[in-house]
Formats: sequence, structure tokens, C-alpha cells
Amino acid sequence: MLGEPEKLRTHTIGEAFTLGEGSGVVLAGWVERQRDLGSLVFFRLRDRWGSIQVRVDESEDAAAHTAAASLRAEYVVSVKGHIALRPPEERKDEPGGDREVIPERITVLAEAKTPPFYITDETPADDTMRMQYRYLDLRRPPMVRAMEIRHRVFLALRQYLDSRGFWEIETPMLTKSTPEGARDYLVPSRVHPGRFYALPQSPQLLKQVLMIAGVDRYFQLARCFRDEDLRADRQPEFTQLDLEASFITREELFDLGEGAMAHIFREAIGAEVKRPFPVMTYTESMSRYGSDKPDLRFGCEIHDFTTAFTGTGFRIFAQALEAGGEVKGIFIPGAKPSRKDEDELGAFVRARGGGGVAVLTVAGSEVGGGIKKFVTAGTLASMREACGCTGKGAFLLMVGEPKKVLPVLGELRVHAAARFGVPKRDGWHFCWIVEFPLYEPDEETGEPVPAHHAFTSPLPEDRERLESDPLSVRADSYDLVLNGQEMGSGSLRIFEPELQRRVLRNLGMSDEVIGDRFGFLLNAYEYGGPPHRGFALGLDRIVALMAGFSSIRDVIAFPKTTSAQCPLTGAPSPVDAEQLAELKLKPTDGGK
Ligand code: ASP
Repeated sequence: MLGEPEKLRTHTIGEAFTLGEGSGVVLAGWVERQRDLGSLVFFRLRDRWGSIQVRVDESEDAAAHTAAASLRAEYVVSVKGHIALRPPEERKDEPGGDREVIPERITVLAEAKTPPFYITDETPADDTMRMQYRYLDLRRPPMVRAMEIRHRVFLALRQYLDSRGFWEIETPMLTKSTPEGARDYLVPSRVHPGRFYALPQSPQLLKQVLMIAGVDRYFQLARCFRDEDLRADRQPEFTQLDLEASFITREELFDLGEGAMAHIFREAIGAEVKRPFPVMTYTESMSRYGSDKPDLRFGCEIHDFTTAFTGTGFRIFAQALEAGGEVKGIFIPGAKPSRKDEDELGAFVRARGGGGVAVLTVAGSEVGGGIKKFVTAGTLASMREACGCTGKGAFLLMVGEPKKVLPVLGELRVHAAARFGVPKRDGWHFCWIVEFPLYEPDEETGEPVPAHHAFTSPLPEDRERLESDPLSVRADSYDLVLNGQEMGSGSLRIFEPELQRRVLRNLGMSDEVIGDRFGFLLNAYEYGGPPHRGFALGLDRIVALMAGFSSIRDVIAFPKTTSAQCPLTGAPSPVDAEQLAELKLKPTDGGK
């Protein structure tokens, strides 16, 4: 009888780290760092779980030595041998650093060309090169870790949500436009020439339909497509945890969301998240942090200094105050900006549309900075009182209409805190921001556009102003913010067809257009739509933070460049005339 076929591998390298001295193994993986010292050859063998040293001594095994001497980086090999402990002085303080493999047979399974960059922890090449050779980039340990974290997050979400009664349901990729404020990716229909599917910007409308269907608790790890001019860290397709639940209050939804966060941080990276998360209204967040995504890892909150400067001889402030402006500012503890720093802060503020920044430094009774001569002891005392700030540091002040000043101060707060080394608290600092405006003015036309999306419910007490003063209407909406970055958002949905029509009419849509685009949804609500709310969380961003990457590109296996191309496959690519003809599309000159 034939024996068992010999295995290509008996253990992963991770498993080999735990085996006793002398254990027999067959390991398989990629060769790195081969060093040929003559009668001794060393190389490391790497797989997804780690890497281990292989030592080949010519005097012990001439055949294995010959094989080892011919190896080159990234060859795929199988190594049969046994585990030996390295002499104490050669041990490395890393997983498996106390051991090596002594081979009796090395088999080359595949050869490799010289890779265009080394497979090391540090970023080895520019982004386009990394994406073009993604299969090499993904062999790098930080990328392996990111993929693992991503997997653990997805798994943990599924477990958690299942335990809370949620069902995972897929909604179609070929669908009707689901507006989230971006352009759609369109797919032409061959069977219905001249008609198009849209790839979903989110599963928003269909998850609403699922609530009408009585599903009650739905989630999906949903791919979303948005054709936007890609700013710094956007991807045309990205993944959200999308969920929706019927008959629940905002507080119940927050409890669920916080539970999910705590669970994934524990499962994926062993971190504890402090709950409950603070809840702040949009208005409060703007006035305290000048931002709807406040970084709560440090203070330097915005304060009002209008009273302190009322009636002072500081002309620029006096004039602005007379014109109805207010003085807002932050105190950066420990900072002592130089003249040059002041210029730089001024340029920072002006680049964001601010008029300028007034700087006052204080150290005991000594004051300095650009506006020193306008600040009497009395003014300083009122300033300190206004913000409760004692000790050394710098006041950075702006004057004007709060709506304009606050966002700039918000950015200045983050910039100056980093610039002057304000310490940040460690860990994961979440908060919920609630009650955003329902609409915001369009940047070009000033007309209302949805601040979240058009299916978000206005707060009941603001509904009567929907037509008369739409921009003042607040929504039952919320964002989840983590360490100064927006992670996700959601809202109570409109479940009354007439209210939905009113909200859509404000966007300039006629009843006919509303019927065309959203008739199916409005109809569905005619058959008994429960109150429901939901949420979507950007999984790429959260995994990037967990894995310590600043770009979401690093935690997506096959991302696209900032110009929406895939350097690995060459997508998007031209199609031939026949394919276009089948779709009844006319070839163009490709925009040339
Ligand atoms: N559909 C929304 C989004 O993608 C999230 C939500 O309201 O659930 O941002």
C-alpha cells in the first residue's frame, strides 16, 4: 500500500514558534534575507504568521547547503527539518527569535524575480508602486496585521450583532440611485438599452424597505460606491457597517453602537473603550471645539472673550465688536509663540478664510505677543476669568461673526495644540454629536441641501419651520466621532410619506420628480412603515486607526489611487467597440 503523501507543510511558522526543541517540521513560505557565509548559509522563511531563521551547515548536510546557497529573495520553498534552539547570545527578542530550523531537505516550489522593493516593515516604495505590486506589498508584516485586524473586526461585528438580534441581509449592487450627496457609478443595461443601474452609494433606501418588511433589525458589511473627486483619503468604493432597527430610541441605538465598538476593539486589538460615550449637540460642539468632530484627547476649548474686550482701546477688536462681532479664542497652555510663530499662525488662519489671529502670551505677570500693548491688567484678569485658564501659555483670539470664526478656530485649536506640543490623552475617545441641521446651504447656490441625507427626520419641534426657515431646522441625526475623526453617522428616518415629500420639495424637486425617483419608497410606507433609525460606520477608517495607519488605502486589500485607478489591474480600461454596440452605447474619442 502506498504511504500517506508527504505534506507540503506540517506547521505554519506561527505554530513552529511553540514547538519543542528537536520537533520535526515541514514549513513552507517565502525566502527572505539569504546570507551566504561560505560553509554556512542562513535565510529566513516567512509566511503569514511570522518568519523563522533557517541555518544550513555544509558540514552537516551538503545537499541542503547547495540548495540553500541557490535561494533568492521571495522564492517559495518547503523546508523539512527540525527545530533547534539558538545559542543564548544569538537569541532575538521577537516571536520565534529563540529558535531556528535545521533543514534536511529544501525544495524550491517556485522561483521569483528580484522584487522591485524589499518586503520590510517600513514602507518600501511609493504608493503607486505598492499598488501595482500589491501581492508583494501585502506580504509585508504591517499589511498582514492590517488584514488580520480587518478580518477580526468584521467577524466580531457579525458575532455581536447576531447576539443582539440582527440579521445580515444583502442588498443589490445593481440598483436604483440611492442619493448620499455624491455622483453615482452607472452600469448600462444591455437588455434595456438606454437604461442604467446605479451602484449603491449606500443601502439606505433598501434598508428602510427592510424595516417596512418587518425585518426589525438588519445589518450588512456593505460596499458603497461614490463617484467623487477624490480628496486626500477617499476611495470610490469603501465598506460600511450599515444597520437599521425598528422601534428603538436614540439612546438604545447609542447603547448598541457603543457595545459594538467596545466589542470590536477588544476582539481585534485587545483595547478597552470607555463607555458611555459623551453626547454633545452640534451647536455645543461647534461653540466649544469649532468642529463637529471634536478631538477630545486634549482641552484648549474655545471660549468667549467678548466681554473682556468690550470698551478696550484695541481698535481692530472694538470696530468688529461694534459691527456685531464676537471675540472667540483658545488658550494653549505652555505655548510661547515667537514672532515667526505668530506670522505662521496668522497665515494658517487666513488660508482658511479668517481675518487673522491676535496673540497674547502670559507667563506669571509677564505678558508678550502681538497685542500685548492693548491688554491691561484688568483685561487680562477678565480674559482669565472667561476661560478659567491660569498658568503660562498663549491666548489665540479671533474676532468676527461666530459662524465664520468658530470653524477656523476649531482648525487652529488642533493645529496649535500639535505645534506647541499640548499632550494628548492616550486611548480611544469617542463621542456622539447629535442634532445636526437638517439642511445646509449649497456652497454655490445657497439653496438647502441635506446635511445628512434626504431621508433623515427633522426634530418634531422644528417641523413647522420646514417651509418658512428650512436652514434652521434640526434633525434627529447623529455622528460618531473618534479621536477627532468622523467614524459614522445615522438618524431617525422619515416614515410618514407626506413629511418625506415636504423634505424633498425643499430640495427643489417637483412632486413628479419625487414620484419618479422615490415613488417606490413612498408607496412602501403607505403599507405600514414602523418608526426606525439606523447608522452606518466607516469600517476602513476604523480599521486604519486600529492598525496605526493614517490612510484607509493601507487597510483595503486592493485600493485605488487618488485618481480612482487600480495600478494592479489597470482598471478602468477601454472596452472594445463590440461591447459598446451590445449596450447600444456609442464609442467616443475617450475624452481626448
Ligand atoms: N446611509 C447613511 C450613510 O451612508 C448612513 C445612515 O444614515 O444610516 O452615510
